Amino acid sequence: MKVLLHACCGPCSIMCIESLREEGFEVTGYFANPNIHPVSEYFRRREAMEQVADRMNLPMIWQDDVYNVPGWIGAVHDMGIADNHDYARCHYCYETRLALTSSVASAHGFDAFTTSLLYSRHQQHELIRETGEAGAASGDYCSENGFQSRFLYRDFRPYWQAGIDRSKEWGLFRQNYCACIFSEYERFEKKLQKLIARSSAAV
Ligand code: SF4
Repeated sequence: MKVLLHACCGPCSIMCIESLREEGFEVTGYFANPNIHPVSEYFRRREAMEQVADRMNLPMIWQDDVYNVPGWIGAVHDMGIADNHDYARCHYCYETRLALTSSVASAHGFDAFTTSLLYSRHQQHELIRETGEAGAASGDYCSENGFQSRFLYRDFRPYWQAGIDRSKEWGLFRQNYCACIFSEYERFEKKLQKLIARSSAAV
């Protein structure tokens, strides 16, 4: 059974690939991440994914032409979801990446598709599952001849520590925020607020 694995980054993909192979799936990776900010970070994460693919002999489909940070920021602002109330920004983000994966999986005749987002303890796991299942059921991402690849749900979170250990052993670049510009700001917001408090007190 052929599975297309959406890969958000190298470190998160390792154990997804390994565990899917242990189940007997033939895995292909798919790198399509439109909103990784800044573009230098996009290059670093892509290179880490290339290293994982080389080490694990993983066939890859690279979709760099969907990278569009300005367009993505504009879209979430226009929808009023930039501040991520009720995880609306992340829901849109999951929808975008899973829609791309579903379309490519259907067009290339993969039996199923899934995502390394299901590995992360920091993501909205159930929302990813619901989004993947709803997208596949909608029929919106069928191939031209009407084939729809099915969504393969797996909980990869039990492999969390094993993935971290392996990525360190391999010397992979490990990011310290989710991906978009908003998550980068949120990651360092406390540090910034401390600086603001200190500098304001000194004025
Ligand atoms: S925080 Fe992560 S999942 Fe949420 S919108 Fe940003 S990149 Fe997407």
